[in-house]
This record gives sequence, C-alpha cells and structure tokens, in this order.
Amino acid sequence: MKYLLLVCLFYGVLAKHELYDGHAVYEIDVHSVEQTKLVHDFENDLLLDIWSHAVPGHPGKVLVPKVKRDIFENFLVQNGVQYKVETENIKEQLDKEDELLASAAERSNSSRIGFERMHTYEEVDAYLDELARDYPNFVSVVLGGRSVEGRPIRYLKISTTNFQDTSKPIVMMQSLLHCREWVTLPATLYAIRKLVVDVSESDLVQNIDWIILPVANPDGYVFTQTDRYWRKNRATRYMIANRCPGVDLNRNFGHGWGTASSSNPCQDTFHGAGAFSEPETEVIRDIILEHSSRMALYLDIHSFGSMILYGYGDGVLPPHALQLNLVGVQMAQAIDRVKWPSNRNYIVGNIFHVLYAASGGASDYAMSVAAPYSYTYELPAYRNSAWFDGFLVEPAFIEQAGYETWEGIKVGARAAAAAFRNGKAV
Ligand SMILES: [Zn+2]
Repeated sequence: MKYLLLVCLFYGVLAKHELYDGHAVYEIDVHSVEQTKLVHDFENDLLLDIWSHAVPGHPGKVLVPKVKRDIFENFLVQNGVQYKVETENIKEQLDKEDELLASAAERSNSSRIGFERMHTYEEVDAYLDELARDYPNFVSVVLGGRSVEGRPIRYLKISTTNFQDTSKPIVMMQSLLHCREWVTLPATLYAIRKLVVDVSESDLVQNIDWIILPVANPDGYVFTQTDRYWRKNRATRYMIANRCPGVDLNRNFGHGWGTASSSNPCQDTFHGAGAFSEPETEVIRDIILEHSSRMALYLDIHSFGSMILYGYGDGVLPPHALQLNLVGVQMAQAIDRVKWPSNRNYIVGNIFHVLYAASGGASDYAMSVAAPYSYTYELPAYRNSAWFDGFLVEPAFIEQAGYETWEGIKVGARAAAAAFRNGKAV
C-alpha cells in the first residue's frame, strides 16, 4: 500500500502538466553567426526555455508557450530563420511519459532501487543509508549540507581504505544538478551498483576512491514532480513581485562567475547573487576543496545531446587540453560502442566551441582548483523518435543510460588514475 502511494505521488495520477498545455517545441536552424546571435537574444528577451542553442550546422530546440508562439514565429519569418514545429503540444508528451513510467513502476513491483523505473529523492536518500549499513567497511554516507528548503544533501564515499591512503586518486561524480535532467540519475546509481553491489572490475575499487552525489539539487528534483521542466534550485530570495524563484546552479560556481550567464532571476541561466551564493553549490565546492590534492577526475552528468564537454566555458583551453580531449574521445568511443543505434555518436569538445559561452559551471570550477580531468556529460535522453523529446525519459532507456554511461566513466577513471599515479596529471 505504501509503495502504491509512493508510485502515485511520484507519477501523479491527478491532472498534471496543465502549466505546459499548448507549449510547443521548435527546432531552429540558423545559417550564420549573425542569425545565431539574433535568435539567441530574442529567445532570451522572450524568456523562452532554450533546450539547446542553435548554431550553424546544429539546429537548436526551444520551448515556446502558447501565448508567445505568434510573436516568435513572426520574428523567425521576418528574419529569414528556418524552423519547424517539432511538437505542437508538449503536454501530450508529458502525459505520455507519466503513463509509461507509471506502468513501468507497476511492472517492476519492487520498492528497491533498480533500473526499471525512476526513483524519488527520498528513495535515493534512504538507499545511501542502506548501502552504508550493508557495506560498513567500504561505504560511508556524508551529509554535505542542506538545500535552500532544508533537505539533506548527502553523498557516498566508496573506498577500500576509508580514504586514508593518500596515494590514491579520487573520482567524483554527480547527477541532477539540473533537476529536470532525470535520466542522469540512473548514471550515478548504476556506478554505485558496479562499485559496491555488483563489482566485476575490482581494479576500479582497489585503485581509486570514489565520491558520488546522486541528487545534487534535491529541492529542484522534488519540484519537477510538479513542474517537469524546472531546471534551477528553489531559492526565493531573488524573486521579483513574487515571481521567478531559483538560481541556475550550473552558473553559480566560482570560475568566471557572472561573465556568461544571466543577472535576471526570470531567466533559466540566472547566476545568483555571487559565486557560491547557494547552499547546493557550497556543498560541492567544499567536497572539491577538501579533496583537491587527490581529485583526478570530476564528472558532472547532465542531459541532453550526447556530448562530452570540457572547459573552459569562455573558450580558453587549459595547457593540457590535448590530453583532456583525448580522454574525452576515449570515453565517448566506449559509450558509442554499446549505445543504442538510434542515438547519435557522442560529440567531444570544449564547451564554448561545441555549444556556447557559459560561466560559473561546476566542471570548470573543479578543473580550475582540483581535477585535471573534468567533464560535463550530456546524456542522450531520447531515442531520436518524433514523439518523445529532450528531457523526457523512456523507461526502456533507464538501465541502458546507466550501463552505457558507465562504460565511458570506467575509461575516464582509469586514464585519470594512471595520469595521477605518474604525477603528470596536468
Ligand atoms: Zn544540464
């Protein structure tokens, strides 16, 4: 009964997603640098939810509310920008996702953490305790701090030597910093499984200490049960006339803070009052600083787009960019070998050069103070099918997302650990 109730609470059997009724997804194709900037600025002025930036050769996706569709389309036509409406009403897809996830949850008929369904913040948090209880010599749970709304932000430390062997490299990974990117959670949960519960490659646990933070933005993740496309945290102190809560946590870190992000609380890339103004980013900063001398690899798992990106977000490359790129490509190839054929191959590159300028990102900060190998993964969250898009999760993909991403993580961890042992990390 309790389990059924949980399922109902999570998937929401009541009328949901009214907020997104009539919202359309546009695919925008730009052909010049001028058009790129024009479209980007207009999307920002309209406070649209930009899912991916359009750049020449790579169409972008943007979510447009019903009331803004006319003005947006007029702008595109007037400026000769090619576009197509990919989804007329996103609410239909949101309802479909609920239906698929709810029936997957019924089929799985288990309250245990697995890969048949999605898990709530509370379930994941309880799971961390369970692991620490079952593997006391190997796993510990640490309370890093509390979110804006007071939820514990807890992470796992996995080590055969209780983090006492200072000659070992550390690999840190996190998911759900952007809370709507649900498919990132299976990636960290799968890593936990392969490092703790079902260990098939013991070198990874013998040679490396691991830090895993599955829910980096707990308030946001809980809120996505109500508002599926929520991206930021739930800070209320910047609100304007009671509107526009939240800070984009991946623009709130202390590397280049505020140089390529928004000062407008109503935008999805709002950077907050200053670097680390939010408790959620403070927690991550403190972990990174505490372990800076040993952190060999840092992975911030996002979705979507099938990309492995490295810093810096302003396009400036670090001195070891060649090694960064090389390891990035090796990770991507490992994933590509086992990915679903319907998903495209991973793209590897510098954030700025592949996508756009972005400041205050977690992986930039980690690389600037600690981890020589630091990446943002953008997982594929869809099967390139016409009816299921962007951030939504197909139940059949949950385990695959965990499995294929782990193939990449392993390659990165081994490469970064080898570089650390050879003392030529940077
Ligand atoms: Zn993201």
